Amino acid sequence: MNTEQKLNILADSSKFDLACACKYKHEPGRMRGDFGRWIYPAALPSGRKVFLLKTLQSNACVNDCRYCPFNQNRNHPRCTLKPDELAHIFMQLHNSKRVNGLFLSSGACGSADATMAQMSATVEILRRRHKFKGFVHLKVIPGASEAAIEQALRLATRVSVNIEAPSAERLRQLTSKKRFHEDIISAMRTIHRLRQEKNTRCQQTTQFVVGAAGETDREIVTATERLYRKFRLERVYFSTYQDPDRALEVFPLLFSDLPVEKKTEASEIFMREHRLYQVDFLLRKYGFDRDDISFNEEGNLSLHQDPKTIWARNHPEFFPVKVNHADRRQLLRVPGIGPIGVRRILSARRQRKISSRQDLKYLGVRTSAGAYLAY
Ligand code: SF4
Repeated sequence: MNTEQKLNILADSSKFDLACACKYKHEPGRMRGDFGRWIYPAALPSGRKVFLLKTLQSNACVNDCRYCPFNQNRNHPRCTLKPDELAHIFMQLHNSKRVNGLFLSSGACGSADATMAQMSATVEILRRRHKFKGFVHLKVIPGASEAAIEQALRLATRVSVNIEAPSAERLRQLTSKKRFHEDIISAMRTIHRLRQEKNTRCQQTTQFVVGAAGETDREIVTATERLYRKFRLERVYFSTYQDPDRALEVFPLLFSDLPVEKKTEASEIFMREHRLYQVDFLLRKYGFDRDDISFNEEGNLSLHQDPKTIWARNHPEFFPVKVNHADRRQLLRVPGIGPIGVRRILSARRQRKISSRQDLKYLGVRTSAGAYLAY
């Protein structure tokens, strides 16, 4: 196989991993580049967007994750890109302005450290030989040593170790090889400690696979809130479980170029992921905490109504919020008003009184939640 053929297989393999693929309101989602491969948006700490080539270094793997099409028990064409091959082809795409960053993951080919060594060698070539200063997201393989993690932090803009499940018990249902505390949480703790000790700007994120272990949304939200608190993660991503045996049957449109809204069975499944992202925004940007989130009797989020509207309906004593007097925290509780809208309201009312919904519309704040506001 030549390098191009290998990249075709390995970059295509990443399509099952949908973290960063989602579209949130005005933000761009995953898109197909003119060179035929999926490219993924990512936000820099500055807020600037970059577009990433997402690929595996290798899809060979010694692990047995039940949700993964590349686990050792599955019959799938395997290949590995050598560090200089991958660095070379990435620079070609970068120089032709097709991508401006790299999201590099890998199956575990042998030990965690041996796999990390290949991935870090790729990024080392990009940084040293090609003087590439752009965005690199490097996956940390569960069980990696402190030395391997330290090297990843030195090279990457962002690192992540996938938590996959909200507890050790849930993870055991997915794999017999990855250990929740010893391999995953301990790697996250090491990253957190090294970030503080080295004062590095390298970010840390993680990802859950949603729906593979029978876990509830309450378990995921509780674990998410704990991760933000304990390890100061920049982001938590949620990736809907796609049964590897049914993925192309249930999600044929997902892997084509049609927009997500056109999907049927898949739309239902992805609504759960969407609700988790809404909760994640409420926790990170709106000042909500876990106790503000409502779950049904089964411990799941409503698929029919967004979590912020549910909170507002359950707290009539909090409303109406006075547009001209409320503070930032109060305004953020109003359904339909987000951090940008709040900023505009606070800035506009320094100049003049806001008297009507029309005034809000004029500011670009399009809330339909009139009953929650007073002027
Ligand atoms: S370690 Fe990664 S590549 Fe290997 S089976 Fe698990 S999810 Fe798949």
